[in-house]
Amino acid sequence: MNENMNAGKINENSACGKVWLAGAGPGDAGLLTVKAAHLIGNADVIVYDALISAELLSRIPQDTETIYVGKHSGNHPVPQHEINQILVREAKKGKEVLRLKGGDPFVFGRGGEELETLVSEQIPFEVVPGITSSVAVPAYAGIPVTHRDYTSSFHVITGHARKDGALSIDFDSLVRLNGTLVFLMSVSSMEKILKGLTDAGMDPDMPAAVLERGTTAGQRRVTATVGTLKAESDRVGIRTPAIIVVGKVCALADELHWAEDRPLGGRQFLLTRPRQNMSVLAGKLRDLGAQVIEMPAIHTEPISPNEPLKCALERFGQHEGGKWLVFTSPIGVNVFFDTLKEMKIDLRSVLGGTGKVRIGAIGSATADALCGYGLIPDAVPKTYSAGELGKELAEMSEPGECVLIARAEKGSPDLIPPLTEKGLYVDDIPLYCTVYEVNTLLKEEVVRMLQNGEIDAVTFTSASTVRGFVRAMGENETDYGSVRAVCIGEQTARAAAEYGMQIEISDQASMDAMAEKILELFGNRR
Ligand code: SAH
Repeated sequence: MNENMNAGKINENSACGKVWLAGAGPGDAGLLTVKAAHLIGNADVIVYDALISAELLSRIPQDTETIYVGKHSGNHPVPQHEINQILVREAKKGKEVLRLKGGDPFVFGRGGEELETLVSEQIPFEVVPGITSSVAVPAYAGIPVTHRDYTSSFHVITGHARKDGALSIDFDSLVRLNGTLVFLMSVSSMEKILKGLTDAGMDPDMPAAVLERGTTAGQRRVTATVGTLKAESDRVGIRTPAIIVVGKVCALADELHWAEDRPLGGRQFLLTRPRQNMSVLAGKLRDLGAQVIEMPAIHTEPISPNEPLKCALERFGQHEGGKWLVFTSPIGVNVFFDTLKEMKIDLRSVLGGTGKVRIGAIGSATADALCGYGLIPDAVPKTYSAGELGKELAEMSEPGECVLIARAEKGSPDLIPPLTEKGLYVDDIPLYCTVYEVNTLLKEEVVRMLQNGEIDAVTFTSASTVRGFVRAMGENETDYGSVRAVCIGEQTARAAAEYGMQIEISDQASMDAMAEKILELFGNRR
């Protein structure tokens, strides 16, 4: 954790860790507090609930330990006292523990009980309030919980029944309050709640709403009256998690609804790019109202130490004729300069010999990366392809010149033949390798969501992201025929087609074009 958080420890010398009891908000990752987002990225271990959405889970770094203690309605896999003990145990190991709960930790979250245990065990803690579903879910449905013209208070009530099935709600008092009533954990007791209200004298024509999975791409809203809500809700098949809202403000939803009307509102996408490249596309899609799960299918690892590169650079520096230094990806450029730094090799020894040095780049993104290091490429083919780059370099060279290609381990073989046929000396040096990633935390949930049609499309920005995604999901476990794959180019699309995915190809190889394609295919035209 960062310095601030360490400074938060009560006893610097103590081996004891600390617990942050934090709310994760109601589902939309944009409703995380800045503090909770920071903790997700920095905790040693995260203890989380069923209400934490896949979009939120995808923010947890791969190497962070996680412990699932979720409860599903009517089924309590991990009893509360065990959760308390898990927090104590992990903190006593000296860990920075993030206890992440849906909504706000103190709104029907049993956060108080967890803190009592921590206090009795003298474990330091902090509380990070979260955005509670009781206010945010109505807001995303176009229901303001208060409004000067209709109500001057709102009340949050649990609809959770006791073991004998009875509700401990004082309906007479509630009806007298004349405020907006928000019932959490109320789907299974809806009938009793609505009857309790009318028995206590509430007008059956009072507006009411049930709001399912609010703030997520799957949010659904049923607006009716206290008299008709149950039948309407059954007709639509509303399931938990959902809240019931009762009060005049519910009638405003028909006019004030907005979340599902955003260009990509109600849509959910899975992104498979390596993490370092992810945020641009994710940000664009979120701005348009989509929910975005980030599940990198690959990452790149620099080859270090890299003796072959060192030797090749020496040969290159000593070569007396013309020479080319060639790059085929922005990552390759960055890794090249990182490796020079690591090996303490001065760029002047590479470029400074007697022969004239020229630079080649496969495409505009690679050229941009080179410009960032003060090198403006001499050759950038119009068409992005290894074969084209080889041809262009050959055309611009004389036999006997040397070419140092600094690229990925399994680079395209098409680059080499045009060069050797021209009589050039080629050093093809791997700088990094591509490693497939499996996100064990998300895998099951993502397979389930794909099967249920909850993910509108998966984006792929290289053939290796397709292969990595399929490996992560399990080749045989998923029916890829129902997956809509938005691909960056033909080569990527061919890889997706091999698994029978439904293919869409962006018009250009850029993140803007990917976002435009998605908008064209999935955008709401309201
Ligand atoms: N601490 C949480 C509430 C936990 S109780 C909070 O502050 O929001 C769990 C109940 O919260 C669910 O049964 C449901 O009634 C409600 N809930 C939580 N997230 C929700 C969501 N996204 N949409 C609808 N209801 C939600």
